[in-house]
Amino acid sequence: MKKEKVFKGIPACEGIGIGKVFLLEREEDLIIPIRRITKDAVKREMTKYKEALDATKKELINTKERILKVLGKQHIALVEAYVAILEDQLLTRDLVRMIEEELFSAEYALSVALNRVIQSFERVEDEYFRGRITDIRDVGRKLIRNLIGKERKDLSKVTKEAVVVAHTLNPHDIIILKEQKCSGFAVDVGTKTSHIALAAQGLEIPAVVGLKYITSESIEDDDEIIIDGYNGIVILNPELKVLQEYKQKYEKIIKEKEFLIKLKTLPSETIDHHRITLVSNIDSHREVEEVVNSSAEGIGLFRTEYHYIDNNELPSEKDLYEIYKYVAEKIYPYYVTIRTFDLGADKLSQLSLEGVVPEQCPALGLRGIRLALKYKNIFKTQIRSILRSSYKRNVRIMFPMVSDIKEVIEIKQLLEVVKQELKNEKIDFDKNIPVGVMIETPSAALTCDVIIDYVDFVSIGTNDLIQYTLAVDRLNENVAELYDPLHLSILRLIKYVVDYAHRKKKLVSICGEMAADLMFTKFFVGVGIDELSVPPAAVLKIKKAVRDINYSEAKEVVDEILTSHKDKEKIIQLLKE
Ligand code: PEP
Ligand code: MG
Repeated sequence: MKKEKVFKGIPACEGIGIGKVFLLEREEDLIIPIRRITKDAVKREMTKYKEALDATKKELINTKERILKVLGKQHIALVEAYVAILEDQLLTRDLVRMIEEELFSAEYALSVALNRVIQSFERVEDEYFRGRITDIRDVGRKLIRNLIGKERKDLSKVTKEAVVVAHTLNPHDIIILKEQKCSGFAVDVGTKTSHIALAAQGLEIPAVVGLKYITSESIEDDDEIIIDGYNGIVILNPELKVLQEYKQKYEKIIKEKEFLIKLKTLPSETIDHHRITLVSNIDSHREVEEVVNSSAEGIGLFRTEYHYIDNNELPSEKDLYEIYKYVAEKIYPYYVTIRTFDLGADKLSQLSLEGVVPEQCPALGLRGIRLALKYKNIFKTQIRSILRSSYKRNVRIMFPMVSDIKEVIEIKQLLEVVKQELKNEKIDFDKNIPVGVMIETPSAALTCDVIIDYVDFVSIGTNDLIQYTLAVDRLNENVAELYDPLHLSILRLIKYVVDYAHRKKKLVSICGEMAADLMFTKFFVGVGIDELSVPPAAVLKIKKAVRDINYSEAKEVVDEILTSHKDKEKIIQLLKE
């Protein structure tokens, strides 16, 4: 009987996986002996190397399409980085010399050249370069395998009872694991925001990363293993009691999931029949399918920065129109709320726009609507594509980062100009397209009584509203503790916005992360929010929470919080009751 062993890593994707180990061999398994060649064999050795190089590149290019389809564009960068490493002079220069002049075999020359590159990267202080070491190792291993014809263990043999334990996995591996319905994986490398973790989250595979040495432990194929993706724990050869506990937890999660699925066809309304519209946030058109399957009643926030961030060139009107039309058609008869680009600050673009210079404080600088109004031609192109995509009358247009009424007036004027152009060109679009702005700055929230006259709806972007109200950078770990959605100022601002919008019978939505936090559902219902926009995966859990709430009771709770309770513990207690 093997002894139980517990490993602590970083939780990368929630879920529990119980199964048998499928161990992917470690890189140390590829030991390359020194082999000399004769002068006559140089040509053959170089050809062998070039063939292996081509085969590796081909493999990588083939995976690119699949990764793009399943995981999205952000994961493609890794494949491109791999190809760049293969072509890097730093690697090839030494290698060619070692084969041609020193008469070493191609595989030995490659292993030495790789080690030299890795060592030179290890000496660099820069975090970015040190972070590339794993990529160099990974791609180097692929190349060596192709050179010596040693096959890597075939991941398509992984069964659904298996938990894969590996030093590292690339996005393509993870796609295969999903296809094989594997129970989870545990890897030595990775952080919470690494490619491996993001791919696991994207494909919803329970995963623990950053285990450092798990593959160096005495671990064998078919060992019993548990992955706890909630707490970042891996238990090898668990004792019976632990195994039973985890099996119970697993059953409970499955039951909860099944219960949530039953809610798909039920309305999003409170016990006393007050309806809250549940819609979704998406960051890319590829997520629309997920929204359709989630039971969301539309898209409350379609972030459009992606098409500007990942390209070196500006997207054309046609490109954007095709994308927006695709989403609008897929989500029909529900609506999609397309937010115009909010570039700048945390959403930086590779585009170099004339006149945009590095800023001391980008979050307070030229971002969102400020940037859009400065680059009116780019902005107009986007507005034209949005309007054109509205021909089915299910598109709403929304503008980010407003901080002054003047901006709203300017946007409305520009919108009229674009509408007139389209009319002149006899292009069909929704003449009454609903127009909204995001309330993300305290100034917009506190002048919402004026802004509301110019728009059909407002959507509170709590991510930024918290950042700007509390003066806390949303990305800065040093002040993360001060980033507090429960702060009374935030709750009060939300109430202020709802009250003024409702006086003019306009709709109020919440589309920041707070909308998906169960802690606040009662508050949002009680304060009178009309629409909650959450990631597709959170729709059913929020629907369940809404259906467990009594609207009239929630209103009383909100009144009590906002009038008599300043103590955070008490607020939490009232929201949880
Ligand atoms: C927000 O600020 O809450 C929001 C939804 O916008 P983003 O996160 O894209 O800045
Ligand atoms: Mg925002």
